[in-house]
Amino acid sequence: MTRTRVDLTDLQIEHLRTLVSGQVSTNSSVLELHSHDESAATPVLPSAVVMVESMQEVSQVLAYCNREKIPVVAFGAGTSLEGHVVPLLGGVSLDLSGMNKILEISADDLFARVQPGVHRIALNEKLSSHGLFFSVDPGADATIGGMAATGAAGTTTVRYGSMRENVMALTAVLADGTIIHTGRATRKLSAGYDLTRLLVGSEGTLAIITELTVRLFGIPEKMAAAVVRFPSLTEGVAAATAVVRSGIAVARCEFLDAKSIGYINVHENLSLTQAPTLFFEFHGSPIGVEEDAKSVREIVSEFGGSEFEWTTDEGQRRKLWQARHSAHWAILGANPGMASVSTDMAVPLSHLAQAVEMAEETLTNSPYLFAVVGHVADGNFHCQILVDPNKPEQQVHVREITHAMTSKIIAMGGTCTGEHGIGSGKMKSLVEETGEPAVQMMRAIKQALDPNAILNPGKIFKEAL
Ligand SMILES: Cc1cc2nc3c(=O)[nH]c(=O)nc-3n(C[C@H](O)[C@H](O)[C@H](O)COP(=O)(O)OP(=O)(O)OC[C@H]3O[C@@H](n4cnc5c(N)ncnc54)[C@H](O)[C@@H]3O)c2cc1C
Repeated sequence: MTRTRVDLTDLQIEHLRTLVSGQVSTNSSVLELHSHDESAATPVLPSAVVMVESMQEVSQVLAYCNREKIPVVAFGAGTSLEGHVVPLLGGVSLDLSGMNKILEISADDLFARVQPGVHRIALNEKLSSHGLFFSVDPGADATIGGMAATGAAGTTTVRYGSMRENVMALTAVLADGTIIHTGRATRKLSAGYDLTRLLVGSEGTLAIITELTVRLFGIPEKMAAAVVRFPSLTEGVAAATAVVRSGIAVARCEFLDAKSIGYINVHENLSLTQAPTLFFEFHGSPIGVEEDAKSVREIVSEFGGSEFEWTTDEGQRRKLWQARHSAHWAILGANPGMASVSTDMAVPLSHLAQAVEMAEETLTNSPYLFAVVGHVADGNFHCQILVDPNKPEQQVHVREITHAMTSKIIAMGGTCTGEHGIGSGKMKSLVEETGEPAVQMMRAIKQALDPNAILNPGKIFKEAL
């Protein structure tokens, strides 16, 4: 059965207004803001945007929408990259940005309890006065709820893990309004099915997360950053792999191709040598970070690494990572009017050089501008491919190209997404990667928890409805 778009009646909108203290908006600019994420996916307007301020409000809104069979798509910061927040069937975009309280910081037990709309930068600003930090860093200033829902990772995952390792407990609201608690703020837990990790990465399709307990770390005594250039992309990637295998506990290890460096030089007014480059970060004692940097310098030199520079100066370290994080905006800034399709492939480390080479060769033979960056120490890399949003056929063509690349990655034992998730863009690849029986099991879980398929319909897989 094909489901059709749901537009709310005036009566339904009036009823929703009685359930929440925030706004229920049908203003066109508010609808537009909630119609898209940061990907090139075609925007779709929700019928209404509902701003919630408490778990009880989320519960009441879901119970009502479930009765009325109104689709509900959670919205955090809208920085996701696979069309996740696009309300494909209209209905309600449930904006959680008003639920932005940091509820508890436990320095003794190294956790924070937060509402889902807290942004990661705001959380880290608050934590710094306690000598602590929340490690997961996807670059964009995402919300903690959105990051849990996408299973986000980023530049520090090699040392501290992704959201899957750093979410300890959740409170969430099921489609019918039932409130559930999962996990505990303990270092270990073995109590029944791991519902926390079921919800982490569920992309708003199983429940709305209303509270999170996340793991914290102490701010290291010293942080150092390093950059090193390579004659080729393959040598840079092979060097990063060798560093990981050496056991040196790098805190960050990121690859940028020569084109990305060119774009960020312009965007950030820098003059970095335009060559394939690895950025490193080391955390530890002053002597420890120096030894780590020395060991990495020796390893990378065996792969043609040159112009090795390192610094413990906080200003320079921040500048370097600001540059890395600006890569997405830098390529778009240099190509005004274009939109970006970001791939997100991850492979076992031994296949990384081959995988990156394959992607580069494929895209070099395509008519599209692209650049490659990667969290290479995790075997994860992104190709940012530019398309003209006014030419939908380009997006279709790029999807065909990226799908073909993803099939090769899966054949290498890799995954179609290391961190961005499936959204509406990678449903075919999910089946290819896990097989139909595993996707059927996902469908069965969805059917059990959300029988009317109101939560973010049309994402991860096509529902049975
Ligand atoms: C420049 C740039 C760089 C990026 N780099 C990375 C990276 O390195 N690693 C990475 O992992 N990602 C990266 N991303 C993608 C993005 O930042 C992440 O996917 C992020 O986790 C999304 O968080 P958000 O708050 O923006 O969520 P949104 O985009 O608002 O929502 C994402 C999904 O989560 C659901 N959702 C949101 N809040 C909730 C909730 N409370 N309960 C249930 N479901 C919810 C939504 O329905 C949607 O399906 C990048 C994005 C950009 C623009």
